[in-house]
Amino acid sequence: MGSISDVGKPHAVLVPYPAQGHVNPMTKLAKVLHSKGFHITYVNTEFNHKRLLRSRGPNALDGLPDFRYVTIPDGLPPSDADATQHVPSLCYSTRHTCLPPFLDLMASLKQSASAGLVPPVTCVVSDGVMTFSVKAANILGIPSVLFWTASSCGFVGYYQYRYLLDKGIVPLKDESDVTNGYLETKVDWIPKIHNFRLRDIPSFIRTTDPQDIMLNFFIGEIENAHKASIVVINTFDDLEKSSLDYMSSVLSAPIYTVGPLPLLLRQTNNQNLSSIGSNLWKEDSSVLRWLHTQPPASVLYVNYGSITTMSSDQLAEFAWGLATSKRPFLWVIRPDLVEGGSVVLSSEFKKETEGRGMIASWCSQEDVLNHPAVGGFLTHCGWSSTVESVCAGKPVVCWPFFAEQQTNCRYACVEWGIGVEVGPVVEREEVRRLVVEVMEGENKGKQMREKALEWKRKAEEATKPGGSSYQNMDRVVEAILNIKP
Ligand code: UDP
Repeated sequence: MGSISDVGKPHAVLVPYPAQGHVNPMTKLAKVLHSKGFHITYVNTEFNHKRLLRSRGPNALDGLPDFRYVTIPDGLPPSDADATQHVPSLCYSTRHTCLPPFLDLMASLKQSASAGLVPPVTCVVSDGVMTFSVKAANILGIPSVLFWTASSCGFVGYYQYRYLLDKGIVPLKDESDVTNGYLETKVDWIPKIHNFRLRDIPSFIRTTDPQDIMLNFFIGEIENAHKASIVVINTFDDLEKSSLDYMSSVLSAPIYTVGPLPLLLRQTNNQNLSSIGSNLWKEDSSVLRWLHTQPPASVLYVNYGSITTMSSDQLAEFAWGLATSKRPFLWVIRPDLVEGGSVVLSSEFKKETEGRGMIASWCSQEDVLNHPAVGGFLTHCGWSSTVESVCAGKPVVCWPFFAEQQTNCRYACVEWGIGVEVGPVVEREEVRRLVVEVMEGENKGKQMREKALEWKRKAEEATKPGGSSYQNMDRVVEAILNIKP
């Protein structure tokens, strides 16, 4: 608990969705708020807390007197697995079971505050898909900050779910609608959003079941966004102007762009927090040593994030696409990447790529992306990965897997001009062609590499003193301190 000198501080309780792509930006936001003078209580699920202790060492979460970790159960059966939990089960469970333990936690923080051990709680910062905690804040009469860790264009996509259901456009009539051209249907009713097809709407509409857990989960969570006092989002104005305008037109709470958080955090220079990390897997540091040996902008970095899975046939197509591209690559393959089996790469592939391919199971992605040897990124288009790639000025080869990754991919390829897409059916020749284009192409590839650097500069502008996200962060602090819930 905090020291007596902390008791005058504002106190934020942060509630991330318990998956890597959410924990990372929430940890960054927590650090930024800490640098602004907040006492931080960071709420892990018990499952993720144990994983963090395993990946980062037994003392890694002791934190500082004014940056403390606490836990609540996620409602799923206990497990020591070192893998991402099943997403629909986790969404269902957090939504239906976490409110009572969270209210108990808030009650115990109130007791500690009465005893002068911590400052009274000033606000709850809820991940956009942990809105039971918005509800708790409203019950307790405390301001709530909804932190949407995904893209603004993704929010716009999820926001259409209710309309799509009401109009009978989803659920799909038949599973063949995923492949028969139905997803090419134009989405032309969203003001100022062009170039959208059903295919670009977050993927949970690809169901024939009106009771589908993910479809209904997002309808509910998006409706709850209306109940937050303010909305904070990990993007910047220039990157997503029309989506942000749309969000402002449908939500009554003020919306503050504070991204990209990796760059905003660099501005705070809070050395005390450098030991606080959020990687759920142990990082393999040898990848950085290997990158040091490679020429500038020569290496393609391949990583599909923490949740994506694929078939062994798809893995083989990617492998041979990389092999025949003849370019050096760093390929991060999680142990649970291949559905229902272990990862097997053929001896022919290993022989073919010997000396120019490095394979690891997890890495410090931001360090890798910012390494001068990395020239491009083959990604599943998770929002954290997309943002980190923008921060590093690296063009992308996109293979979206699920959720709003399809939307992010569309924006990367069509709106921002930094990406090309591998079709849903992975074919080695297409992978080879796109990798060569992004790394060395003289026309489209060159334009993408230049665009990526341009977006990097704009992201830096937004986050430096005077920039839109930098100023918005100060406005967020002011709003938190002045909200009357
Ligand atoms: N990440 C990492 N090392 C890896 C793979 C991923 O540090 O080997 C981090 C990455 O930097 C990002 C997060 O994990 O911050 C993945 O989030 P994203 O939203 O891109 O995808 P998700 O995992 O949610 O699908």
